[in-house]
Amino acid sequence: MKVDLHCHSNVSDGVLAPAAVAAYARKSGVDVWALTDHDEVGGIKAARLAAGELGMRFVAGVEISVTWANETVHIVGLQIDEDNPALIQGLAATRNGRQERAREISAQLADAGIPGAYEGALRYVGNPDLISRTHFARYLVEIGACGSTSEVFRKYLTEGKPGYVPHRWATLEQAVGWIKGAGGIPVIAHPGRYPFSDTAEGALFDEFRKLGGTAIEVVTGSHTPDQYQTYAELARRYGFLASRGTDFHAPGEARVEFAELPPLPAGLTPVWHDWF
Ligand code: AMP
Ligand code: MN
Ligand code: MN
Ligand code: MN
Repeated sequence: MKVDLHCHSNVSDGVLAPAAVAAYARKSGVDVWALTDHDEVGGIKAARLAAGELGMRFVAGVEISVTWANETVHIVGLQIDEDNPALIQGLAATRNGRQERAREISAQLADAGIPGAYEGALRYVGNPDLISRTHFARYLVEIGACGSTSEVFRKYLTEGKPGYVPHRWATLEQAVGWIKGAGGIPVIAHPGRYPFSDTAEGALFDEFRKLGGTAIEVVTGSHTPDQYQTYAELARRYGFLASRGTDFHAPGEARVEFAELPPLPAGLTPVWHDWF
């Protein structure tokens, strides 16, 4: 059974509509699939319908942007009730400020010699509430400022580089609380991507667990194969359930396609162990 619990549609910063992501996942052999758009559940109903028609089990999800220790951390929620009012309200509050941030990103890029980036990024945006750095990255690739989106994130849009505008997202407590309140399972997304020391990472895991968090991503398109082993070990040590997902945004854009992502390492309890 192939399980993929982390994907994006054009309701956030993916390029395909929810039903098209479902079709792409199914064609790649996925049997159990979650849509986890950033700070948005607007694609869930279309995704569920499409998954059902394709004979794929569907898991309602979301990926919430959090500020923890002055860094951005992503918390995925799985098996959520997408109609839960407190979750919907919390996500709306979290999305707030993206427009102003985008204007500032654009102003910084203009100072760096790249004018018109706001308008350029906007052409990639499917949901005006959710203009993200990914949309700017696609525009910078389009105009040839960089060869790939990963090059963009090395040269622009990140700390110390032009187009970096820090933003205050939800707190860890809020994100875990909204997910649990909506009946869902909180999961730390791609823990290997954060710039934390081992000590800070341990503090994040401890606090997350104390708040009621129960799972971390182990196998994700955002981890290197070495990190699959590192986070498998940490999942065992902390007693976390293990999750798996490509973090798909667009065909050809990911480091790892659906079909290439390996299974979870042995000796872990999958986050889906008691779902079916
Ligand atoms: P935002 O929520 O606007 O800060 O944008 C964050 C998004 O940028 C993430 O969800 C990723 O899709 C993308 N992103 C961040 N860092 C990288 C990176 N190093 N390479 C490729 N995409 C990235
Ligand atoms: Mn993204
Ligand atoms: Mn993420
Ligand atoms: Mn993601």
